[in-house]
Amino acid sequence: MNPFRYERARDASSAVALLAQEPGGVFLAGGTNLVDHLKLGVSQPDLLVDITHLPYDRIEPLPDGGVRIGALVRNSDLAADRIIRSRYPLLVQALLAGASGQLRNLATTGGNLLQRTRCVYFQDISKPCNKRVPGSGCPAQEGYHRELAILGASEACIATHPSDMAVALVALDAVVRVLGPQGERVIPLVDFYRLPGEEPQRDTVLEHGELITAVDLPPLPFATRSHYRKVRDRASYAFALVSVAAALEVADGVVREVRIALGGVAPRPWRATKAEAVLRGAPATEDVFRRAAEAELADAQPLPGNAFKVPLARNVLVRTLLDLTEEEVQP
Ligand SMILES: Cc1cc2nc3c(=O)[nH]c(=O)nc-3n(C[C@H](O)[C@H](O)[C@H](O)COP(=O)(O)OP(=O)(O)OC[C@H]3O[C@@H](n4cnc5c(N)ncnc54)[C@H](O)[C@@H]3O)c2cc1C
Ligand code: SF4
Repeated sequence: MNPFRYERARDASSAVALLAQEPGGVFLAGGTNLVDHLKLGVSQPDLLVDITHLPYDRIEPLPDGGVRIGALVRNSDLAADRIIRSRYPLLVQALLAGASGQLRNLATTGGNLLQRTRCVYFQDISKPCNKRVPGSGCPAQEGYHRELAILGASEACIATHPSDMAVALVALDAVVRVLGPQGERVIPLVDFYRLPGEEPQRDTVLEHGELITAVDLPPLPFATRSHYRKVRDRASYAFALVSVAAALEVADGVVREVRIALGGVAPRPWRATKAEAVLRGAPATEDVFRRAAEAELADAQPLPGNAFKVPLARNVLVRTLLDLTEEEVQP
């Protein structure tokens, strides 16, 4: 591990100022992803700015009926919160499908959004990887890519985004609040993550030194009827091969409102706008759900090792929508 300086931020503006002065610095939250990367040599910062003492550990109602989640709210606390449990069940299910109890006790909302891909080559510094060392190559294309992307990838990188929570938040139209050297800004989560293109080293639109302070959820009343379904190789401690976050409102057999995001299939949580367009105003039937899934996956470009994800994503999406049209959502 490379030597680095450690500073504990007293307040948000000093946290931002500390990083602004140090191009090789990073924020430290729960450390469950960053510390692994320090040990592996994937990340070699000169400075760690510990933000865990900043006052962003609350979940608060907003005047518009939405909810503000502080960036330092731990994943366990978010999953246990009464308002979140009653109004955004898919978010609770996504959180509880991630990592383990001990990890969720440490992992924070901001850190979870910024965790990095689990592509095996990214985490192995003896291998080339365009995301870690731009221009070095992408061995996953010809190598091991079973877990990697079928949508939104590029010649340079086919990695998937690993967060379960982010998939639920994209489906919920969440907004990220950020404080940086130039002041505050607000970014819809659906625009927060970048596709790799020719710059796979940049996962998000954040600039160096920008601190996530909170995530805002809109009221979205029909999200009380929502579900997160994750398919993975093991029942615990495994990242999604495919996941679906969906909220559905059906009246008189017709889809009135719908939000869908897919996980495990793309370099970012994938908002399924094409599927949503097919569904809105259409009869809530299995046939329509299948057409919606097929519309979303029509652009999929799988490789030999991950072609199974195309039918898997289609079937998981259809099953999730069928469950949501039934009286009780199945676990
Ligand atoms: C064995 C294992 C299994 C896992 N399984 C899953 C899983 O199934 N599903 C899943 O979703 N996740 C899983 N995870 C990942 C886990 O959820 C993340 O490691 C965790 O959410 C990261 O949060 P953190 O607070 O520890 O972030 P840290 O490790 O502290 O930080 C991560 C990154 O975010 C940056 N950062 C942190 N907070 C801020 C902020 N407020 N503003 C700006 N930058 C910030 C840091 O600089 C760093 O780059 C797993 C992790 C492990 C170790
Ligand atoms: S898929 Fe992306 S992260 Fe994986 S080896 Fe290729 S460039 Fe690196």
